[in-house]
Amino acid sequence: MGVPSLTAGDGTVLPAIGFGTYKLTGSAGVASVAQAIRAGYRLLDSAVNYENEGAVGRAASSATGVPDELVVTSKLPGRRHRYAEALATIEESVYRTGLDRIGLYLIHWPNPKVDRYVEAWTALIEARERGLVRHIGVSNFLPEHIDRLVAETGVVPVVNQIEIHPYFPQREALDHHRTLGVLVQAWSPLGRRSDLLGNPTITAIAGEHGISPAQTVLAWHVARQVIPLPKAAGSERQRENLDVFGIALSEAEIEAITALGRPDGRTAGQDPAVYEEF
Ligand code: NAP
Repeated sequence: MGVPSLTAGDGTVLPAIGFGTYKLTGSAGVASVAQAIRAGYRLLDSAVNYENEGAVGRAASSATGVPDELVVTSKLPGRRHRYAEALATIEESVYRTGLDRIGLYLIHWPNPKVDRYVEAWTALIEARERGLVRHIGVSNFLPEHIDRLVAETGVVPVVNQIEIHPYFPQREALDHHRTLGVLVQAWSPLGRRSDLLGNPTITAIAGEHGISPAQTVLAWHVARQVIPLPKAAGSERQRENLDVFGIALSEAEIEAITALGRPDGRTAGQDPAVYEEF
């Protein structure tokens, strides 16, 4: 059975889970991503700043039988928000992947102090017009940043990829995105850099269902219609993380997991209002 999908307000359909690739680079990265595709992942994350568009693109173009379904993602770095630079960077991303075009292209961080994210967005719109990329979206945008894009360009992002895990569930942000028809992807969905997978609430619910803590957390994302992007280098965890669509958590279990959230729950304190990445 294939991975289920979710549909954005503009009708764009994306797989309901994707594969995270941060730190997967070079030939080992190609092997790991190729394995993920064989396991069934159809949405692949990547970014200019991960220095792995080549590895992800190579794994995607060497996949047999599925290339049309694959959605390769990349992201524009903060140092390339100026219009002409952004377009050249997108072209370079396409060349590095070796694909005809990139499935989904995001602005990696808004960097509001620099205040060029609307300019960058106009470049992404142009890249889509020119056929360099199929869908466009953003990452780490706060609701007010998205509102500004829509007010100034009239183009709503298909996706916003933000930090979400039980320690930082982003309840209000999810509501805002739903109203706008923006699909939400979760980065660090398993709470990398935290003790999440050993949390007693998570392990207790996992025990009840006879599933792993990672599957419990991923089933929570799926129940909230968030697209998680778990990264796992090896095939066993890749398969485990994909095998979550038959898990039915109760409303009470979902609430108990969401209740683990805390205001300072970001794993590395990266608040897009002030954090900058170039
Ligand atoms: P994550 O997916 O939450 O966690 C990855 C860690 O969990 C790895 O150490 C992995 O180990 C381990 N893991 C995976 N499956 C497991 C399982 N079933 N049981 C136990 N441990 C498991 O963290 P992430 O890599 O930070 O986030 C995922 C992706 O989101 C990234 O790879 C990247 O593509 C994207 N991301 C985007 C942004 C952004 O600013 N847009 C920021 C951060 C991340 P092994 O690999 O050793 O198995």
